[in-house]
Amino acid sequence: MKYVYYFGAKEAEGGDAALLGGKGAGLQSMVKLGLPVPPGLTIATHVCQHFIQSNESFPTGLKEEVLAALHRLEKEAGAEFGSAKNPLLVSVRSGGATSMPGMMDTVLNLGLNAETVEGLAAATGDSRFAFDSYRRFIQMYSEVVLGVSAHFFESLLLASKMKSGSASDSDLKTEELKALVDAFQDLVKKETGKAFPEDPHAQLWGAVSAVFRSWNSNRAVTYRRIHKLAEDGGTAVTVQAMVFGNRGPDSATGVVFTRDPSTGERRLFGEFLPNAQGEDVVAGIRTPLPIQALSDLSPKPYGELVSLASMLERHYRDVQDIEFTIQKGVLYLLQTRTAKRTASAAVRVAVEMVKEGLISQEEAILRVTPLQIEQLLHPRLDPRAAKQVIAKGLPASPGAACGVVVFSSDDAEKFKIEQKSVILVRHETSPEDIAGMDAAVGVLTALGGMTSHAAVVARGLGKPCVAGCGSVSIDYPSQVFTVGTTRVARGEWVTIDGATGEVILGQVATLNSQLDQYFNEFMGWVDTRRKLGVRANADTPHDAKVARQFGAQGVGLCRTEHMFFEATRLQVVREMILASTGEERLKAIGRLFPMQKEDFAGIFKEMVDFPVTIRLLDPPLHEFLPKGEDEIRSTAMAMGISADTIRAKVRSLHEFNPMLGHRGCRLGISFPELYEMQTRAIIEAAVEVASETGHRVEPEILIPFISTAKELSVLKALVDRTCAETLSRLRAEVVYSVGTMIEIPRAAFVAESLAAQVPFFSFGTNDLTQMTLGLSRDDAGAFMPAYLDKGLFQEDPFASLDEDGVGELLKIASERGRKGRKDLKLGICGEHGGDAATVEFCHRLGFNYVSCSPFRVPVARLAAAQATLRP
Ligand code: PEP
Ligand code: MG
Repeated sequence: MKYVYYFGAKEAEGGDAALLGGKGAGLQSMVKLGLPVPPGLTIATHVCQHFIQSNESFPTGLKEEVLAALHRLEKEAGAEFGSAKNPLLVSVRSGGATSMPGMMDTVLNLGLNAETVEGLAAATGDSRFAFDSYRRFIQMYSEVVLGVSAHFFESLLLASKMKSGSASDSDLKTEELKALVDAFQDLVKKETGKAFPEDPHAQLWGAVSAVFRSWNSNRAVTYRRIHKLAEDGGTAVTVQAMVFGNRGPDSATGVVFTRDPSTGERRLFGEFLPNAQGEDVVAGIRTPLPIQALSDLSPKPYGELVSLASMLERHYRDVQDIEFTIQKGVLYLLQTRTAKRTASAAVRVAVEMVKEGLISQEEAILRVTPLQIEQLLHPRLDPRAAKQVIAKGLPASPGAACGVVVFSSDDAEKFKIEQKSVILVRHETSPEDIAGMDAAVGVLTALGGMTSHAAVVARGLGKPCVAGCGSVSIDYPSQVFTVGTTRVARGEWVTIDGATGEVILGQVATLNSQLDQYFNEFMGWVDTRRKLGVRANADTPHDAKVARQFGAQGVGLCRTEHMFFEATRLQVVREMILASTGEERLKAIGRLFPMQKEDFAGIFKEMVDFPVTIRLLDPPLHEFLPKGEDEIRSTAMAMGISADTIRAKVRSLHEFNPMLGHRGCRLGISFPELYEMQTRAIIEAAVEVASETGHRVEPEILIPFISTAKELSVLKALVDRTCAETLSRLRAEVVYSVGTMIEIPRAAFVAESLAAQVPFFSFGTNDLTQMTLGLSRDDAGAFMPAYLDKGLFQEDPFASLDEDGVGELLKIASERGRKGRKDLKLGICGEHGGDAATVEFCHRLGFNYVSCSPFRVPVARLAAAQATLRP
């Protein structure tokens, strides 16, 4: 097996990223393109695998291959490794198949020692340069390979600058640099117990071993876990002849991007430092100059850089991020890689590259990630702004917002009237908080998971939410929350980032989303490729309108209970629940009817010509009753009944586990009048909107929480009967359909008999997840972050579908359901409907549509298109 791959001016042995790492493979192909690359060699990734598996030994024959390649390198560079007269210096870099910022840093100037530094000084005629390189080498090698902490070196450097009165590193004289080298060497001896290695070959093998070891460093392992990269790939090591950007005013080092990585605009973008080495740019000691300034300083290498950059972009057919060095007027390229870019740049570049004929529409669609689309739709933190993160919770609803802290929904509404931005901070939210959440710019909860009430509602509203932030401890009576020793009182500013889960003290600048012409054009291409329909979960006409603007093809779930929490309606709902006779209850239901009808009509109007799925009432009735003594007393007063009556009702409706209690279709069985009223309201609204607008209205009536075929047949009969009566009374016609939710495992198993009765299933994966995993969505927040941290869950199962468990039930229900009815329509309406991986899964199962909150509709559209393009 071959271990080492050489590259030089006229020869490249080739090799792909899996073999040579992204960097090594890139250098090989740059050489093949005839680019000015300093020669070097790459040790293949499989050597790293051997090193790790064999208790840190090298395979036999490796040393010989490295030495042979090093000789070729010496010849080509015209210098000799370890020579006291004309020493060859090299850089040593790590690089796996996928670039990992968690891996080992670079070591530059390797090969210097007490003798070779003199040789370098003599050969270049510049002893200041030689000793400057030497002190940099000792520091870098000691940090990266020997594990000596950087701050020791920094303080010696600072002391030297103070002593000599130098403002910057570049002001240090040769003698001072020599003294610094001695001090660095003493330091290394003291810290490691050994002298700094003098032998250049020992230095080289020390660096190679450190690169291999860094594959299993904590940060690299964590990075791979987060990004789902393979554990066994290993890193390659590239050893390359040094070129120096610090050889005087006609030398420089810098980085260029072939297009602007923040806007995507097609222009060379980048910066450089004259007379500097690469790490000076990163360290931020001196301020780099914009790349255009190079055209005045060094017009010839600048012109070359411009044309080589464009050639590299054409070759790789993507934006490149290129490192270069100019040594005494001669340009060298050290690295090229696919450039990281902002979400809006990603879309613009994808669209423009199609127009330039560089890539196909399919490639463009695959190049933008669903996450980038998500970022585009929400305001985000200005990446340049400083921030003091005080806590971290679950990233429950993306976007960033700052506002003053309030602890109650009433307060949120009050501040809103005064035009103040507020962040609503609660232990958890309940349906009663809807108005407060609507008034707030963001929501922070100490409890609750990714499908907690706060998370679901915030996503629906398109507002940022950080949920399950366990380190936040709230004291409602004193109106403060504390995190450790930090105390934040009502009225003080905080910023939350719902994309990362960060809670930040004070105000941090945010950048607004911009949906430009590139976005629209891109999404147009996306829609021509996808097979899955994308609908929205929308509870109000406003939600439906936003959803339609984002490209929703209907409403996949309207949760009718969300209309019951508005103050005047809540009063009527309470009257219905507290009614002591059947007659009184019917009266209250009668008063709810016009309100519901108006809501449904509003949604139908926004969604004409598309289907609208309306779910009959789902939550247990006690959710609508007042909580706590104060509220009970004030409600009693407002309703003119005794507080005892309310207390008795609260007691009688109390449930030990409401998630598994008197809810969903069970309510329909116990209170058929309620489902009849809702059905009538749906049909009457549909008839009116159809005749008013002349458009098609397609109501789909959804029955929640079904677990047996009998429940479904009783309730379907009730709905059908009510529809028939209503239509015949109105002498009108509306095509409606009745379907069932699949959100209890038993329903998935008996799907065949359910499908025999209804034409569509909608998978309520929120409930299905809680029941399959035995994991309450409202309590998961308490331990989910720890589970994710420890890798017990790769993803929060309430955010991305647990394919092995819950997904298996989706599979069973789809197969059995389609046995019962060939043309059964399948959709998903749990929060997972807006998650890219889940959308792909639904595509594979042959679903008809996914439904998600309005702001995630474009994300689902892209994920659906990508699902058709991936093998
Ligand atoms: C579900 O269970 O997935 C669902 C959509 O219903 P809800 O979240 O309202 O229980
Ligand atoms: Mg449900």
